Amino acid sequence: MLAVERRGEFPRELRATAETLGLHLALAIDNACLAERQRRFADELEGKVAAATRRLRELDRAKSDFVSIVSHELRTPLTSIQGFSELLLSRPPSAEGARRWLELIHREAERLGRIVADLLDLSRIERGGERALGPAPLALGPLIDANVELLASQSAAHTIERDLPDALPPVVADHDALDRVLKNLLANAIKYSPGGGPVRVWARVSAEGPGRVERGVEDRGVGIPAASVSRMFEKYCRVPHPDTAHVRGLGLGLALVKSLVEAQGGRIRVESQVGRGSRFVLSLPIA
Ligand code: ADP
Repeated sequence: MLAVERRGEFPRELRATAETLGLHLALAIDNACLAERQRRFADELEGKVAAATRRLRELDRAKSDFVSIVSHELRTPLTSIQGFSELLLSRPPSAEGARRWLELIHREAERLGRIVADLLDLSRIERGGERALGPAPLALGPLIDANVELLASQSAAHTIERDLPDALPPVVADHDALDRVLKNLLANAIKYSPGGGPVRVWARVSAEGPGRVERGVEDRGVGIPAASVSRMFEKYCRVPHPDTAHVRGLGLGLALVKSLVEAQGGRIRVESQVGRGSRFVLSLPIA
């Protein structure tokens, strides 16, 4: 608004001049506003481009790390297989020795197979085509029991506690996918609690929303720093910790877990405290 005050008469020319002046001022103010908006937009854009570039650099570094980890992971079992098979060929050992070496070759070949399976799963996720799952009504109890038993026999340092109510309703899930998810979470709970201790597996009807069952895997291991928790389900994400530096892995397990859980209408989250342990909770629809 432009106000012009004048004592007495207001001549026509003066009014015309005031009007022209008003128009020019309005245009100037409009232009200034536009310029300011443009500057803010440019600043915002610059910030976004910088963040995206940072993220791309991080991803690029993660990919390079990943390639070198994979190469190392593949070379180690391969070297064992080559070494022991050469030994078998060059110095025929006793039946007992041959059996031991063959067992080693077999174990390392299995490890190679697991790495290749993870890599194939990864490329499937990247293409966005998780294999077709067949969710059907499924009782969680027997699946949890089978996995608890399997894992319990693999680590003497850990005790696996199971906490399931008697009347747990069946969920809608794909048996094989859920089996893989559970194996992965339990194996991680053991790998990342090198000091041993209890690992708890529980399930209950969700208190948050009706129609869902929650299932948790808890450990008292090294835990995950708060800054990394939100990245836990990203590919290649590995959190270094001095106590678990010897643990091998590609950082793919949790990315696969998340994609399998979500492909069957489930959700997964993690809560963790460094030095106290971690809790992975997934929720699935009740059948
Ligand atoms: P990998 O075990 O092959 O590295 P995962 O995707 O299964 O791959 O796990 C990614 C990372 O998440 C691990 O390297 C580890 O740092 C962290 N992590 C996973 N599970 C746990 C856990 N139960 N406690 C602490 N850290 C964990």
